[in-house]
Amino acid sequence: MAKQDILPFFIPHWGCPEGCIFCNQPKIVGKQGDYRPLSGADVEEALEKMLSMWDSHPRRYREIAFYGGSFSALPAKWQKDVLGAAKQAKDKGLIDGIRCSTRPDAVSQEQIDLLVAYGMTTVELGVQSTDERILRLAKRGHTAQQAEEAVRRLKAVGLQVGVQLLVGLPGESWQTWIHSIVTVAKWQPAYLRIYPCLVIDKTELADLWRAGLYEPLSLTEAATMAAFGKTYVESQGIQVIRTGLQATEEFDAGLDLLAGPYAPAFGEMVVNEQYRQRIEWVLSDYLVNYSIDKVKNKTLIYLVYTRENTSKVRGLKKANEIYFKRAYPSFDWQWIEADEKSRRFISWLSSLSDKAQGLLTHVLQMPEEQTADDGSFYCQPIKESDFSKNKNRSHKLDAGCSFKRVGLAPLYLLIKDKLYMI
Ligand code: SF4
Repeated sequence: MAKQDILPFFIPHWGCPEGCIFCNQPKIVGKQGDYRPLSGADVEEALEKMLSMWDSHPRRYREIAFYGGSFSALPAKWQKDVLGAAKQAKDKGLIDGIRCSTRPDAVSQEQIDLLVAYGMTTVELGVQSTDERILRLAKRGHTAQQAEEAVRRLKAVGLQVGVQLLVGLPGESWQTWIHSIVTVAKWQPAYLRIYPCLVIDKTELADLWRAGLYEPLSLTEAATMAAFGKTYVESQGIQVIRTGLQATEEFDAGLDLLAGPYAPAFGEMVVNEQYRQRIEWVLSDYLVNYSIDKVKNKTLIYLVYTRENTSKVRGLKKANEIYFKRAYPSFDWQWIEADEKSRRFISWLSSLSDKAQGLLTHVLQMPEEQTADDGSFYCQPIKESDFSKNKNRSHKLDAGCSFKRVGLAPLYLLIKDKLYMI
């Protein structure tokens, strides 16, 4: 997604017909989420101030966004007032898009027509889960089928659709989570946000938690499930634009948040976890197909990555490094930062066998656009013949792997003479 300049308006709880048990919107959006009426004049005034800031740097995609609440469920008169101001700015070319968040049961054809008539470009739907029991327990007040129809209707009129999913709601298991991500991926929204379910004060979920009737996910569980979901939907060509809530001063001070998997660096943890899972998948492939000497010598395994990916690959506080050392003691883990200017790297490269050297040199010399964002993910070893066949093309090869890599920069695993790209 291109870099954006966003003028956000928070409309917490406005238009929500039921109180979802986990939600206390004003607490989530922090101090900016004060309840107050918003009018078209407010939008104009705020935009004028924002434009002077935006104009001071190169132009990016500019957007007015109405977050929180259920925008399209609000009275049409109010929507026309605030959207009228936004549309006027869009018609004048001052902004490029308008976005709102809403519920799947608040996008009837009539409601969609109003949004389109007033220049809406993106609608973000709080879907949370596609498991009917979870939706009932969370008192969402809509079904998964309604969510699917909402996505279909919005896409049919050319609106960009984002979907929000919550991992760890009451009744959640790996099975329900996989069901949700696979189902939502089939709907092909433009993007997804994945949030972990937190226990926030003054919510029904907080009462359940106090009564011992709800146990939130641990931080590790939440990061593991979110990473798995992120990798899966990315493999289906859908961007995940956020994992975890934005840090607010109140959360960081521990206020209002009673329990649950909250960490300011949750998004980073998820990316670390994606790498951990991917390394482990490659390892399982290797272990199934090739033998290792479990008794006498440790098998040397090299993980080769570029400098900008060092912390993602090795993990926060080297968590991935520590994990693999403990979990796979039959391997000698060597973490190598690839830098063609580094003597250490060059001398390590020249210590490898000719075959391994040839493979690694070849992939590391590939233009960045071919190695970084071509959507490939190999879970089978790369062969020399793969390159000779595809010399001048992106090496998006059919390596017999069901996962495609999207958005993660490359990491290479070299085990004996087998080279994997992740
Ligand atoms: S619909 Fe969204 S904003 Fe409204 S109560 Fe539910 S989760 Fe909160």
